[in-house]
Amino acid sequence: MADRYLHFTGTAPGRFLTRRLGLPQPAPLRRWSLDTPRLEGPLLHLTAGSGAGAGADTETSAGLAEVLAGVGLPVVGRADRPGAIVLDATGVTTAAGLGDVHAALHPVVRSLAPGGRVVVLGTVPSPDDHHQAAAQQALEGFVRSLGKEIGRGSTAQLVRIPGVRVPDVPASGIRLPGGGATAQGAASTLRFLLSPRSAYVSGQVIELTDATPEPVTDPAAPLAGRTALVTGAARGIGAAVAAVLARDGARVIALDVPGVREELERTAARLGATPLPLDITAPDAADHIAAAAPDGLGVLVHNAGITRDRRLANMPADRWTSVVDVNLDSVLRTTDELLKGGAVTRGGRIVATASIAGIAGNNGQTNYAASKAGIIGLVRSLGPRAAADHGVTVNAVAPGFIETKMTAAVPFFIREAGRRMNSLSQGGLPVDVAEAVAWFAQPDSTAVNGQVLRVCGQSLLGA
Ligand code: NAD
Repeated sequence: MADRYLHFTGTAPGRFLTRRLGLPQPAPLRRWSLDTPRLEGPLLHLTAGSGAGAGADTETSAGLAEVLAGVGLPVVGRADRPGAIVLDATGVTTAAGLGDVHAALHPVVRSLAPGGRVVVLGTVPSPDDHHQAAAQQALEGFVRSLGKEIGRGSTAQLVRIPGVRVPDVPASGIRLPGGGATAQGAASTLRFLLSPRSAYVSGQVIELTDATPEPVTDPAAPLAGRTALVTGAARGIGAAVAAVLARDGARVIALDVPGVREELERTAARLGATPLPLDITAPDAADHIAAAAPDGLGVLVHNAGITRDRRLANMPADRWTSVVDVNLDSVLRTTDELLKGGAVTRGGRIVATASIAGIAGNNGQTNYAASKAGIIGLVRSLGPRAAADHGVTVNAVAPGFIETKMTAAVPFFIREAGRRMNSLSQGGLPVDVAEAVAWFAQPDSTAVNGQVLRVCGQSLLGA
């Protein structure tokens, strides 16, 4: 459903009126396309604190410089109008050191181009050093606040690179293990965050592991040779996920219930995908999926989902059961069976779909929110074990207000509130979720595991 308010605020009278009335002023987001594959403007690379970027670990600094060079923007130390700013704050280990964050960003933040990106690189707060932990945790509050105030379609995120304490490193005592190799683990994440593909992602904290990334042989088709299965792919977010994975070179199997077979076949034909009419709650669903991908699955996307809203006091058991069965139980069942049977190949990627309702809760959605919170539990618990036992990562997207049939059915005033109550003052598009799924699916996203990425424009709900 078209966002007429967004169009209106893009006109001169609309701008004038909304400014005078103090109403939200959403900036049109610049999303990825063949014509706009990159952000506008150079990448400004800054350092705060006395850690890696300041030269305490030259291997990591060199690795990070190489990774930033791979983003596709000219990397500079000074710029009038940067398209992106990356602040290496891995060396900030004291409250006083936070002053360096202010000193680095205060003079340049206003010059960021519209639709720009700020990415702060931090490290994991230490359980053994409360000064370091305080300083690194402070970066989270900093980034989440910056995301709320930066405006003009720009975003801010924090990426935590794993760190270890090594007392022989002067000043910070923190060194990034594996040096350049650890920086390489951040490559896919920085490519995603520093591009138009992450247009509707803001205020997020991503914590990377020290897993060694797999190489990408063809950057234009990173998923070439891999089979990807997407559930609920006939329409909405699932169809967009299928389209983006196909764009990235995957052979796509599009699964949806037999009841929407025609829509599914149309979507699959448009994408060159194979349709698989199947109810994901069927007891033998995993067998059918494994049979449809005899060479194994490189990417498994659990996207199918339903709502059956009612307040708990009015909710019959069948509404509860059907939602939990589709949104959570079938995900648990098929994931276990496909992993156990070896149908998800080594280096494989499993991506599930949560929701901000599973984080914030929602009136009338005890069943839906429980199922989506369950997905978060699944991802956090299974991620490390799936990596150790099967060489597979497990992550989730948590969409906010996304313009689909599901949200078009929401009553007008609630829909308008959902659209505006986020830092970007607009709803997201299915492609925004799809781009996040594609980032999880990248071969070199090995260090991205057990993460839940909110694709919600930094919604106020559950923040
Ligand atoms: P949608 O209703 O447009 O599409 C969901 C698809 O899943 C449909 O094609 C449906 O037929 C399919 N499906 C339902 N039950 C199935 C089953 N048993 N087996 C196989 N397929 C089944 O919804 P959407 O808005 O595209 O949402 C996709 C996912 O994103 C869902 O998990 C949803 O909960 C989640 N989500 C959506 C939003 C949003 O704003 N649209 C927000 C948060 C989370």
